[in-house]
Amino acid sequence: MSIAIKGCQITRDKDASGHGTIHYKKICSACGYVLPGEGQHSGPLSRGNTFRTFFKCPKCGNKQDIEILGE
Ligand SMILES: [Zn+2]
Repeated sequence: MSIAIKGCQITRDKDASGHGTIHYKKICSACGYVLPGEGQHSGPLSRGNTFRTFFKCPKCGNKQDIEILGE
């Protein structure tokens, strides 16, 4: 299971054995804009580790951090 900490909402998680791809919507916490496309993370994300990335909001220009915690 993966937990959205910051800047995103998980729409599809890895399967029960921890394989597969995490899909997530990118959400700007400054203005609430939800990007139309989804981000994907296919690398390993083990329990207690955090996947970090960022995007620039096309609406307000905020540099939004994304954090997903492996659980
Ligand atoms: Zn924004």
